[in-house]
Amino acid sequence: MTPSPADRPATLTASGGLRDLMQYAADRVVGYRERVGDGPVFPSAVDLDDVRAALGSLPDEPTPATAVVEQLADAVERALVASTGPRYFGFVTGGVLDAATAADVLTTGWDQNAFNPLTSPAAAVLEEVTGAWLTDLLGLPAGVSFGFVTGGQGGNTVCLAAARHGVLSDAGWDVERRGLHGAPPVRVVAGTGRHATIDRALRLLGLGTDALVPVRTSLQGSIDVEDLGRALASTSADPTIVCLQAGEVNTGAFDDFPTAIASAHEHGAWVHVDGAFGLWAAVGRATRHLVAGVERADSWSTDGHKWLNVPYDAGYAFCAHPAAHVAATSYSAAYLTGQGSDALRGPGDYVLESSRRARGFTTWAALRQLGRSGVAELVDRCCALARRFAHQLATVDGVTVVNDVVLNQVLVRFGDDEQTNRVIDAVQRSGECWMGGTTWHGMRLMRISVSSWRTTEADVDRSVAAIVAALQQRP
Ligand SMILES: *Cc1c(COP(=O)(O)O)cnc(C)c1O
Repeated sequence: MTPSPADRPATLTASGGLRDLMQYAADRVVGYRERVGDGPVFPSAVDLDDVRAALGSLPDEPTPATAVVEQLADAVERALVASTGPRYFGFVTGGVLDAATAADVLTTGWDQNAFNPLTSPAAAVLEEVTGAWLTDLLGLPAGVSFGFVTGGQGGNTVCLAAARHGVLSDAGWDVERRGLHGAPPVRVVAGTGRHATIDRALRLLGLGTDALVPVRTSLQGSIDVEDLGRALASTSADPTIVCLQAGEVNTGAFDDFPTAIASAHEHGAWVHVDGAFGLWAAVGRATRHLVAGVERADSWSTDGHKWLNVPYDAGYAFCAHPAAHVAATSYSAAYLTGQGSDALRGPGDYVLESSRRARGFTTWAALRQLGRSGVAELVDRCCALARRFAHQLATVDGVTVVNDVVLNQVLVRFGDDEQTNRVIDAVQRSGECWMGGTTWHGMRLMRISVSSWRTTEADVDRSVAAIVAALQQRP
């Protein structure tokens, strides 16, 4: 027997009502975000056993919702990383814009399934509108297809699935039906500085990393276009995908798109551009020239949760060949109705999931809050702050900035590997700011990425002071 609503245990509704519960959660979020610039950026001093203990063991009985939310926030807040704060420079990590944060709360409350227009007309229209905005803003050709994916990994995987379809169908092979057994071999030509998510996508797509034909890159990480020509000539008989990069993950370097894309297309290759953060250079006034010609590629992937400062999970896969995109990722089944039509696209046809969160709402909110000029200003400001880091650090004895700071990335060396590791570790433990380490051309380096709307010049100055203090500490 189904219980009537009256039989629903009281613990499944908030004791003070949902409004009080949500207000409590909102207060916790606001309180956290107001203080996020004050406390340690990384919770080095926290004993994770305390967090485990505060979470308790699997309860036998229900708990009222308000108590649940309070216990959760109390238990984990101390172990949070202030990556949404102003002095987190690890990986490439944006904060979150206020409108996008609130839109994420609405997304959760509405609990829409963004699979198709029948599961959520709102999500379908929203993604259609927002995808067109993104296409325009990023300077991609009108009419490209797009999917709202989980991030850069999702974007690279979807785009390379479309590429796999494209190059194999040109070779007369239906990969969706026949798979890869017996298929013509596909070569993937990519710079040695490609992001590791390209390799994972190749593994998942059955192409395998042995399909890679590596191409030399310059010291700064841009693909060597002459070596690309050589690689293309050596694979010219095979279906070929070329992976280029907007924003090398360490240096922020860009490939020479006009030359590389023209040469790839002469050989009939599909060109995919991984632009997880670097594609946003298209919007900055001072950085636009870096992506000149990128619009001639065949697919592009970028992140929302990095530089656009949208909450996780937000990424976008764009494709100049909508039919290849849909062939690679759509599916249908007898019980499914309301797939996309000419009147309204089916958002699920362009991504890897079926049921999924309406993850486009946050992106719309971020773009609406910033507008074109706001995104441009965000990109330009982060780059100016990266240069501020570089200029100040370069004047300190024993410190070398090793990359050309063309975007928002700064690579710093402190004499030798040992000293560099020691400084990175001391800065991280200081709680003042957080930057990671990397190994680049065999050298250990501190890697600084400025990607948050919250970061100010004062935050950079304070972080430089923390780095100098760490350097001066006796080992
Ligand atoms: C971060 C990044 C990715 C992966 O993006 P996720 O959002 O972490 O999946 C891919 N490529 C580059 C260049 C990146 O910086």
